[in-house]
Amino acid sequence: MERCPVCKARFKDDPVCYRCGTDLSILLGIERRAEWLEQRAVALYGAGNFGEAWRVAEQALALKRSPLLCRLVEFLGREMLNSMVQNRVPLVSLLSALKR
Ligand SMILES: [Zn+2]
Repeated sequence: MERCPVCKARFKDDPVCYRCGTDLSILLGIERRAEWLEQRAVALYGAGNFGEAWRVAEQALALKRSPLLCRLVEFLGREMLNSMVQNRVPLVSLLSALKR
C-alpha cells in the first residue's frame, strides 16, 4: 500500500494513518496474505505443479492485482487447457474449466 485509501496520505509503515487516523491493519493483513500467496504460486509453478499454482495464483489475484499474478494466471490457465486438449479431456470438462 502506497497511500491511505481514505485520505490519500503517503503510507509510512504504520498500521494507523498518521493524517486521518484510519486503522489500516486489516488492509495490510490482506496485502501480506496476497504477497504470501503470490510467492507460494511461483514456488508451485517452479516445482511443476501447474494446477495448484493456478489455484493459489487466482486466490492471490482476488486479494491484490499485480502484473506478475495476472501473467501467471493467464499463462498457467493456457498451459492447463493445452494439457487438457493434448490429453483428450472431454469437451464438457474443458468448458467447465473455462468458466472458472
Ligand atoms: Zn488517511
